[in-house]
Amino acid sequence: MKTESESLFEKAKKLIPGGVNSPVRAFRSVGGSPFFTKRANGCHLTTVDGQELIDYVCTWGPAIHGHNHPRIREAISNALEQGTSFGTPGPAEVEMAELITEVVPSVEKVRMCNSGTEATMSCIRLARGYTGKSKIIKFAGCYHGHVDSLLVKAGSGALTLGNPDSAGVPDSLARETIVLPYNDEQAVEDALLENKDEIAAIIIEPFPANCGLILPKPGYLEKLRSLCTANKVLLIFDEVMTGFRLGIGGVQERTGVTPDLTAMGKIIGGGLPVGALGGKTEIMDYLAPLGPVYQAGTLSGNPLAMAAGIESLRILKEENPYESMEKMGTMLAVGIIEIAKSHGIALQVPQAGSMLCFYFSESQVDNFDQAIACKHERFNTIFQKLLSSGVYLPPSSYETCFLSSQHNEEIISLTLEKIKSAFSSL
Ligand SMILES: *Cc1c(COP(=O)(O)O)cnc(C)c1O
Repeated sequence: MKTESESLFEKAKKLIPGGVNSPVRAFRSVGGSPFFTKRANGCHLTTVDGQELIDYVCTWGPAIHGHNHPRIREAISNALEQGTSFGTPGPAEVEMAELITEVVPSVEKVRMCNSGTEATMSCIRLARGYTGKSKIIKFAGCYHGHVDSLLVKAGSGALTLGNPDSAGVPDSLARETIVLPYNDEQAVEDALLENKDEIAAIIIEPFPANCGLILPKPGYLEKLRSLCTANKVLLIFDEVMTGFRLGIGGVQERTGVTPDLTAMGKIIGGGLPVGALGGKTEIMDYLAPLGPVYQAGTLSGNPLAMAAGIESLRILKEENPYESMEKMGTMLAVGIIEIAKSHGIALQVPQAGSMLCFYFSESQVDNFDQAIACKHERFNTIFQKLLSSGVYLPPSSYETCFLSSQHNEEIISLTLEKIKSAFSSL
């Protein structure tokens, strides 16, 4: 007998490429057939087959307050009364801009768009327009959405499916992208020297979280900042994932390193499709209609998305959940490490705040090459065991696990019990 999820997936595969609207959802790397979700509440998903799962994906980051938060639901519902899209400026856009510029240290002006991909794409165009230079430096394993010139040695689904270099990206564009290893200062110095006066920007996930979770070596981000300043290169932080998650002001607040431009998304949509780019006024004013760099969007600043995002940010400001999420994240990471140790299994669990990942490796992972060298089949075994016992980890060892403010001590303890029995089967 097929489950409801299996039947839906069969049908979906006939209608949608791979049966999914975003590749990692297809479970290709962990194997098996994906479940379909009927509803989501707090830290739980309920599948169409009636299984309840503790969710460590949190819709890939946005659900920092857990799913279906009553205040966000109410905000959307109130906005809905006024209409779904205006195509003119609306008051919520001003409030959103006010909130973002208030909490993100480097952002003086902000432009809303509809996804993280749009945000990084526009950051790149703006950096090129502003500097008059065309080459970009990115880092292996960093994922910046599916932007042509950034889909070179990318992380996330591209990496999970074994094609970090996508077909369909012209060589001429890929040649404008220089890919360097993360955490290697010398490589950046060398590239800047070799491409003198040609580099428009360095784009980076300051804490790369799309090939597991890699943490910067002490001084690394600071060094990038000073190299960029010295070479008149813009530093772009892609904080689509880390923004509003590793502190309300993201990594830039956590580390004190200030980028020139920031790409944002995920949490600022409160579960609706949103992205944003922001930075210094002088640079942001290069965007149309003031400046020569074109950027636009029919649904940008959509009133429903603004309502959801604003409420999400308001709750973050009021509740300041970061310390307690950090505590829960540490409890989970430490617990997992202990379990692995007691089974004699080599495992690294890098953790920052409410994010962590599993690296089945003897030693600390500092870059992309080390991340891909981990024993990923071990993760897949754990993933399947946990899924059947009611815990949903991201369906790829290259994705980060997310906690929400609803993942309390009781939920973490329960999760650790289940992880313990999953490890017994390794
Ligand atoms: C998710 C993500 C993106 C892409 O955002 P979308 O909304 O999926 O287009 C870009 N950069 C980072 C770091 C991300 O995690």
